[in-house]
Amino acid sequence: MPLSPEQQAEIDAERAAPRETLRATAPGMERHLYTAIPVLDHGFVRVVDYMGDDAAICQAARVSYGRGTKSVSNDEGLIRYLMRHWHSTPFEMCEIKLHVKLPIFVARQWIRHRTANVNEYSARYSILDREFYVPEPEHLAAQSALNHQGRGETLSGAEADRVLRILRDDAGSAYDHYAEMISTEGQQGLARELARMNLPANIYTQWYWKVDLHNLLHFLRLRADTHAQYEIRVYADAICDLVRDWVPAAYAAFEDYRLGGAQLSGKGMDCIRRMLKGEAVTQESSGMSKGEWREFQALLDGPSA
Ligand SMILES: Cc1cc2nc3c(=O)[nH]c(=O)nc-3n(C[C@H](O)[C@H](O)[C@H](O)COP(=O)(O)OP(=O)(O)OC[C@H]3O[C@@H](n4cnc5c(N)ncnc54)[C@H](O)[C@@H]3O)c2cc1C
Repeated sequence: MPLSPEQQAEIDAERAAPRETLRATAPGMERHLYTAIPVLDHGFVRVVDYMGDDAAICQAARVSYGRGTKSVSNDEGLIRYLMRHWHSTPFEMCEIKLHVKLPIFVARQWIRHRTANVNEYSARYSILDREFYVPEPEHLAAQSALNHQGRGETLSGAEADRVLRILRDDAGSAYDHYAEMISTEGQQGLARELARMNLPANIYTQWYWKVDLHNLLHFLRLRADTHAQYEIRVYADAICDLVRDWVPAAYAAFEDYRLGGAQLSGKGMDCIRRMLKGEAVTQESSGMSKGEWREFQALLDGPSA
């Protein structure tokens, strides 16, 4: 269960007591404030607070240029220009604070993004809940033969059943031992900060994560990508939906230039120019390595290939 009844009641109370503000608000984001979006089997993403909107990006950019217009189409054009030219600081004027509940092995990937402010649930102070991520059967896959960092075919039949059983049994028995060690019934009880070391990496943790829009988009570009592990990608996908509602023009530009666009090397650009002139360019004549050429071909073939 992503949220306990007490947590849900707290959130409902926040939503039931709107506050007045003179600040600019983003109508799309107001709908998400204090609601939890379920992710994986026990996780969630929840917007705790945010600052700024599409207009704040333009306002900041126009201060640096000392001029500006105010129509929506001009704002969209300006935001696309900023995104196209990697003019990033205006996007840093928007911020978001999220409450995220996620398995520890996902948190380890997430925390590599250093440009955010984080405060994590303390397992030295509090007792962790008995909640473990166990993949849905369709996400239990074999090691990929092609990609050392990825998955291949989905596991099936008796093997899939056995794997699920092992995951559940190991997590359950590790948690039983955790509970046994910290118990103070008839014994001193081991400190929580020590007892937790026996818990598996699929146990859930929680944190508050505050980041500016520029660095959030960088995170989303890496983690909403098909190369990212499924278990972090689903969080990134949920956050993409939030950002789309929060700053629609910035998200549209991001989708176009970053998610949908691609960066080409000098050799890649040269190949495209030669192809447009009718030359049959091959890997050998491209000057690219086999790996680069494969990725270049995949780019030209498009996402459906
Ligand atoms: C598909 C995938 C596979 C990965 N595989 C591995 C792996 O096998 N092993 C592994 O260790 N990691 C791996 N990573 C993590 C990756 O190397 C980055 O650490 C992670 O994506 C964070 O990226 P970042 O540093 O750009 O982000 P952030 O930390 O958010 O930083 C954003 C940007 O700020 C700048 N910046 C931040 N801090 C500094 C600094 N101290 N000095 C200079 N510039 C800074 C950089 O320009 C950086 O790009 C993987 C990531 C992905 C997406």
